Amino acid sequence: MTPVLPAGIHLVDSHCHLDMGEYAADLSAVLERALAHGVTGIITIGIDRDSSLAALELARSHRCIRACVGVHPHHADQVGPRDLEDLAALIEGHRDLVVGFGEIGLDFAKRYASIANQHALFARQIQVAKELALPVIIHDRDAHEECLQILQDQGPLDHGGVMHCFSGDMELARRAIDLNLHLSLPGIVTFKNAVNLHDVAARLPLDRLLLETDGPFLAPVPFRGKRNEPLYLIHTAQAVARLRDQDLEEIARQTTDNCRQLFGYDFSRAGTPSP
Ligand SMILES: [Zn+2]
Repeated sequence: MTPVLPAGIHLVDSHCHLDMGEYAADLSAVLERALAHGVTGIITIGIDRDSSLAALELARSHRCIRACVGVHPHHADQVGPRDLEDLAALIEGHRDLVVGFGEIGLDFAKRYASIANQHALFARQIQVAKELALPVIIHDRDAHEECLQILQDQGPLDHGGVMHCFSGDMELARRAIDLNLHLSLPGIVTFKNAVNLHDVAARLPLDRLLLETDGPFLAPVPFRGKRNEPLYLIHTAQAVARLRDQDLEEIARQTTDNCRQLFGYDFSRAGTPSP
């Protein structure tokens, strides 16, 4: 059973990949379920040019969806300077649909691209995001120190950003907050053995907290191992509320407001499936 949000209370899924094939057969049903249960905002995230274009298309046709555009570190070996110019131009042409730059960062777990190219691409994309005055969506997998170092080297993030699918401890969270970042917690926080994340969820300043599904990946309990979708964000929110000893309502209200402030879009007013 999916917990029910009180009327007028909304959640925003701050990181999902709605363009992925896992949703191809039933995306409209997925969106309707989410909206009907109070998940009234979804940010869909680009990982390369094609998925960024798909994200824009989804945002164009749905008021509840906004897009982030960028190149994931997995693709760092295939990107040239011209590609980033193209992405920047794409964003300039769709300012109303784009709320952030990403996902960008470092992935030392899978290492689909060379570390040198990942570093260079990450640094360049931070600069592009800053020029475009957009918050950055950061993918950090087994690369905490390097991520923070590169961010620091690129100078202050006036428009902030988010460490998505946060997997560090409270010390790392504090250092990220000092760089003007938010932390987004995924469904992993519902897993019994995720004790580090439980600690972070309990102690994070509420004004720095976002929630995400990272769908179609990382479904929360009781859907662990299945396809994830925005509706399931309610389970993640409920787990965070329990860990903090706060009401689900309070968590929903504040995280939705955090999204409005960071991404400059009021998802609580977007609760209809069409534009
Ligand atoms: Zn992602």
